[in-house]
Amino acid sequence: MRIDILTLFPEMFESVINSSIFGRAVKSGIFEIHLHNIRDYTLDKHKHTDDYPFGGGAGMVMTPQPLFDCFDAVIGDADPKPKCIYMSPQGKTLTHDKAAELSACDRLVILCGHYEGVDQRVLDTYIDEEISIGDYVLTGGELPAMVMMDCLSRFVPGVLGKSESAQDESFSNGLLEYPQYTRPADFRGQKVPEVLLSGNHAKIDEWRTEMSIKKTLEVRPELVEKLGI
Ligand code: SAM
Repeated sequence: MRIDILTLFPEMFESVINSSIFGRAVKSGIFEIHLHNIRDYTLDKHKHTDDYPFGGGAGMVMTPQPLFDCFDAVIGDADPKPKCIYMSPQGKTLTHDKAAELSACDRLVILCGHYEGVDQRVLDTYIDEEISIGDYVLTGGELPAMVMMDCLSRFVPGVLGKSESAQDESFSNGLLEYPQYTRPADFRGQKVPEVLLSGNHAKIDEWRTEMSIKKTLEVRPELVEKLGI
């Protein structure tokens, strides 16, 4: 999958692109990441990329010219046009299902906003979808873009090793995951539930389902309701 990122702060992506599971997927060629510095496209002699909002109000708005030129350079005459996403608190919230859907795209273009956001004409011209990572406001779209990339990467074949399977994770069956334990079986007097040491897989599955429902009911009862359990 090719991902183009339009940002004023390309350096923020370096650690994610070069580390851990996502970094490994980039090294192995599963992901091709292209970072585009929006500032490189401004024709303003002071390299400004923002201006005061028409109508007044606090903050600055990202101006259309550098963004139009950046999008045109990135998309070129690509056919089909890649899906263009604007990371925005006004978008639909990123979910497990949305990440799985995006993971099937061959190419994504992600716009990261800053300041008070982006001139609406940019969104009207290029953006297919706005995606939010939650009902709160961050200073920029870079962290949301990285969250979305990391999340969708887990659905791309070859990204997770066998031991890191995405199956059984929270949300994969609509519930939160059961509690996990590892060695030692007794740590400072806190014992691992007996059933997990029993070797009885039917019993272990039963316990895990029960714990999964219990945790979900405690923390996210609406998820259980949605499943109609
Ligand atoms: N004025 C905007 C509003 O009230 O909707 C908020 C702008 S925010 C300070 C600056 C940028 O951060 C946005 O353009 C967007 O790219 C990004 N951003 C902030 N919160 C976000 C969120 N929850 N999800 C995705 N992107 C977000």
